[in-house]
Amino acid sequence: MTRRRWIADKWDEATATLKGAQAEHMIRVLRTLPGVEADVVAGGRVFHSVVARILDEGQDGTAEVRFNLVAEVEAEPGMPVTLVMSIFKFDHMEWAIEKATELGVASVAPVIARRTEKHLALAAMKRVERWRRIALEASQQSRRSDVPVIHDPAKLTDHVKATSHRKRLVLAEQERSTTLRGALAEVIAAAGAEMPELELAIGPEGGWAPEEEALLDAHGWQAVSLGPRILRAETAAIAALAVVASMLE
Ligand code: SAM
Repeated sequence: MTRRRWIADKWDEATATLKGAQAEHMIRVLRTLPGVEADVVAGGRVFHSVVARILDEGQDGTAEVRFNLVAEVEAEPGMPVTLVMSIFKFDHMEWAIEKATELGVASVAPVIARRTEKHLALAAMKRVERWRRIALEASQQSRRSDVPVIHDPAKLTDHVKATSHRKRLVLAEQERSTTLRGALAEVIAAAGAEMPELELAIGPEGGWAPEEEALLDAHGWQAVSLGPRILRAETAAIAALAVVASMLE
């Protein structure tokens, strides 16, 4: 039976504590009691734990569940992959963040591209906390030992120009000669025993603007294809991560 995984809000070398919504869920919905066993993630490491104390109202007035950490268990960290996602319809974006978390993405960088719809660009900053909550819940559900970082929205051009040590791939629907799979095989071969670190950039619903394609190229982003069909942005994000996961894990 696979135990649900809880991500501690506070911890030390012997205990871990859930606070707020997670604690309330354990107390009110799961009716947890001292002695109940659970897997708790504390500082990116996973521990087999036992509930030690339950507080309906801890020091700061919120619910608390305190665990004793018993033994560290095998952790499944995410893949060293950043998904640079041009902001698109929020409900599709939220679906993509949840699926990308399940697939092991390490971080998501929402970016404003030239063809990102203006009202979405303006509203994005207000959505980031919700995106972070979706990533946290999807991490727990998929038993990850880490939670993907959801960066604040930024301009695509700023992200493209920023220096990075990662291999940067741009998903380009017009690209015909290089497939994502082919590019990855080369990256993996060049990385030897190391796990390559990647960035995958996905364009907006309207696609990359020509000047964006030129800027990406000028800053060393390699254009790669996911095949001859035009995928929706969220489909491309998930398909790309699935290809990466199948080759890196
Ligand atoms: N230009 C597209 C069109 O003609 O409808 C619209 C862009 S597509 C909906 C959104 C993004 O998904 C693209 O910018 C690209 O990053 C990615 N994408 C879609 N299909 C792809 C493919 N076959 N290969 C690589 N990337 C793809």
